[in-house]
This record gives sequence, C-alpha cells and structure tokens, in this order.
Amino acid sequence: MVTILFHSTIFGPVHSRRLGTSLGVNLSPVDGKVCSFDCVYCEAGYNSQGTGKSGLPSREDVARQLESKLKEMSAAGEPLDVITFSGNGEPTMHPDFEGVIDDTLALRDRYYPGAKVSVLCNSTRLDREGVVNGLRKVDNCILKLDSALTPTMRLIDQPVSKTFTCEYVIPQLEAFGDKCIIQTMMLRGNHDGKHIDNTTPGEVDALIEAYKRIKPREVMLYSIDRATPESDLQKVEREELESIACRMRDAGITVQVS
Ligand code: SF4
Repeated sequence: MVTILFHSTIFGPVHSRRLGTSLGVNLSPVDGKVCSFDCVYCEAGYNSQGTGKSGLPSREDVARQLESKLKEMSAAGEPLDVITFSGNGEPTMHPDFEGVIDDTLALRDRYYPGAKVSVLCNSTRLDREGVVNGLRKVDNCILKLDSALTPTMRLIDQPVSKTFTCEYVIPQLEAFGDKCIIQTMMLRGNHDGKHIDNTTPGEVDALIEAYKRIKPREVMLYSIDRATPESDLQKVEREELESIACRMRDAGITVQVS
C-alpha cells in the first residue's frame, strides 16, 4: 500500500501549480494519518496504516515551528506566495484548529504580509463552530466536493461516518458561498469490486447543480497526479478536464483546471 507521509509539521516550501510557492503545515501526526475520509486516491495512503505514535502537534508547537521557518526564509530573502494547510490528514480535526489559524495569520502578517493562507479541507466538519470560524478567516478556504451524488461520493471518499451524505454537506457548503473555493477530483477506476466514475454526464450535471447552489468563488477541477493507494484508478487527462470545465462554464460557473 502507498503511504507517502510528511514527516514534519512544517514542510517545504514547494512549488505547486495550483498555489504557487507554498509552505506546508501538517496538523496531523508526523508518523501516521488522521482523516475523517479515506479517499481511494489519497496521496498519504489509507487510514488503515494507523495514526502513528507522535500524536497531533500542539498549537504552541505549530506556532513555534512556523515562526522559526518564516524567520529563516525571510532572512534568506526567499519568496512565499502561500502558507497551505494540508499534510497527513484533515487539518480541521485538530482540536485547536481556530487557534492555530489565528496564530498563523498573525505570523503571516509579521513575516510575509503579502502571502495568502490556504486550507485544504474535506468538508466533513462544517457542523463545528470553531472549524467554520477558522475557515472563514483564511484567504483561500478550499472545500472538497468530489461528487454531488452520495453513492459516488461514498465510493470515492469513503467517509468514516456512516451517515455523511451530499444532502448533509451541500447546504453547509452553501453557507460559505463565495467565501470558499470548491475542489473536485475527477477520476475513473475500480475499488472493492465497484466501478467509480464521476465524469459521466449525470455526475457532471449533479455537480453543476450543486455548484449553482453553493455559488463558490471558483471551482478547481483536477485529477490524479501521484501514486494512489487504490492502484486501479485512471487519471482524467487535461483535455477531458477542460471539456468538462467548458460545460460548467456554460452554466455560469468559474472553473480552473489544474
Ligand atoms: S480528505 Fe484528503 S487527507 Fe483525507 S483521505 Fe481524502 S485526500 Fe486523504
């Protein structure tokens, strides 16, 4: 099984097509994965690898390590476009998520006032006040919606909660409206004897209806880029992503393909 973990709380900076020069913050353990989804395409591998022994970093540790890295980069004259929360799991599962965001925004203002703060979030915890508050403060709140049809979403994302549905999450995404960017992974393949394909006309129509309800700032469409824990998955090539994006744009949605 593929298990490519980030072995530190602060990682990078790395250059990302989507986000520019990005310094990563991993609020999950440095030796395991903690996520409320178990996506078939997760670059960190499946949840079954375990949560490791290190535990979640404390709010204080995150601030200390981030400040030390920002100080070092600033002294060296290194550029920075964005501080991105991603890593070995779901950042909003950190119990001090809102506090970590407050610290990060203060450090950003001190060392790199022109940089953005982005959070890649799987949208499973939008029913928690601290999570919503934290997400509303950042520049780029990037929320996952891989399918607007619950059976497909459950095949792709494998939520840990048996009751998590699109009907539950879409109204929560609507509450963010243009304060959020929706990120959708397009893919085809097979997992556990079931076929997965969120590129069919029916899937795209359902996504368009959901985006029209949510009214996000923009939609980011992307596909598989690296090794996935389920090996029987196919990347959707850029040309096809662009043609799906065209249909969405025709419906009035701002779409970026990456
Ligand atoms: S939500 Fe992100 S971290 Fe969690 S399983 Fe999916 S891809 Fe991996």
